[in-house]
Amino acid sequence: MKDKRVILFPWIIKKLVKSWTASITIFPFIFIRNEQLRANTILINHEKIHIRQQIEMLILLFYLWYVIEFLMKWIIYKSSFTAYQNISFEKEAYQNERNFNYIHTKKFWSFLKYL
Ligand SMILES: [Zn+2]
Repeated sequence: MKDKRVILFPWIIKKLVKSWTASITIFPFIFIRNEQLRANTILINHEKIHIRQQIEMLILLFYLWYVIEFLMKWIIYKSSFTAYQNISFEKEAYQNERNFNYIHTKKFWSFLKYL
C-alpha cells in the first residue's frame, strides 16, 4: 500500500538539499528523492524512527537539538559528514533501521544513549 506520508521532493527541498541526501523527514512527512526509494524499506524505516524522535521532542525541540548537536560535532570532527553521522538521532536511526519493530518498542528519548 502506498503510504501517503511518503512524498517526492518538492522543488524547494530539491534546491535546498542538492545531492546531499536521498530523503528528509519533516513531521509528519517523509520526502524522498525519487519514486524507486519508496521500495527501500530500510530507508523508510530509518525515516520513521526520525518521525518517532520528532514526536517525542514535540517536533521543534528535535530540530533545535539536531542543529546544535550537528554544529558541536562539526567543530569536534572538522567534517560535516562525520558530524552528521555522529548526531545521536542519526546514530539511533542507523543502528536500528533494519529492526522494523523498533519504532513500536523504542523507549522515550532513547537517542540519549547515542550521545
Ligand atoms: Zn537520518
